[in-house]
Amino acid sequence: MELQIKNLRKIFRTDSVETVALNDVSFTVTDGSFVAIMGPSGCGKSTLLNILGLLDNPTGGQYLLDGERVDNLKESQRTRYRRGRIGFIFQSFNLIEEMNIRDNIMLPLNNLSIPSEEKKERVEMAMKRMGIAHRANHYPSQLSGGQQQRAAIARAIVARPGLILADEPTGNLDSKNGLEVMELLSELHREGSTVIMVTHSQRDATYADRIINLFDGSIVETLNDRL
Ligand code: ADP
Ligand code: MG
Repeated sequence: MELQIKNLRKIFRTDSVETVALNDVSFTVTDGSFVAIMGPSGCGKSTLLNILGLLDNPTGGQYLLDGERVDNLKESQRTRYRRGRIGFIFQSFNLIEEMNIRDNIMLPLNNLSIPSEEKKERVEMAMKRMGIAHRANHYPSQLSGGQQQRAAIARAIVARPGLILADEPTGNLDSKNGLEVMELLSELHREGSTVIMVTHSQRDATYADRIINLFDGSIVETLNDRL
C-alpha cells in the first residue's frame, strides 16, 4: 500500500498538560517498502504507528492510504477499514488470554465475508507458517514469548493485509527469537507487503530499505541508502 503523510500533528491533552507528540511530520511510503522508524523513548514512534494503523486519529494534517483520506474517520469506520488491509504487531503481543491460539488468530477473519472452511484453512496455514500449529489449543500464557509473538504475527497476517505495522516486534524477545521474527517480517516484505516497523535495534533496522529517525515529535533524518 502507498502511504502519504502530510504535516501530521498529534497533541494529547489531559486536564492540565498538553503534549505535542507529533509536530509537522511529512513523508511518503511507496508500495512494497520496508521502513524502520527509530528514535529515543518518548519521541512519538508509537503515536505515529498507531495513527498509520488507524488505531488513532491525528490532531491535524493529512493521511492518505492508496490515495484515500483516512485521517478523519470515526472509530467504527477505522475498524472497518483496518479489516483485511492492515495487520498490527505489538511489542507486548496483545493476545487475548481467554482465547486459545487458534481463536486468537481467527479474530481478524471473523467479520470478513469468506467461507468458514476457508477461514479455518487460513488459520491452520498461518499457524503452520509460524511454527505454532502444535500450540493451537493452548492459551497464550502457556506459550513462550517467542511463540506468543509468532502467534501475534500469524494473527496480523491471516487476513493477508497489504500493510503490516510492527511496534518494537523484537523488544520483548531474546536475540534468537528476535532474529527469527525479523526473518519472517523480511519474508512478508519480499512477498509484496508494505512493512513499517518501530525499533531500537540497529540489527533490526538493517532489514529495512529506509530508516526514518524521529526526535521530539519531528523527523530529523530519513536514510534510504539501500534504495
Ligand atoms: P515512543 O513510542 O517513541 O516511546 P510515544 O509515541 O509512546 O513515544 O509517546 C510520545 C509522547 O506522547 C510521550 O511524551 C508520551 O508521554 C505522550 N503520550 C503518548 N500517548 C499518550 C496518551 N494516550 N495520552 C497522553 N500522552 C501520551
Ligand atoms: Mg513506543
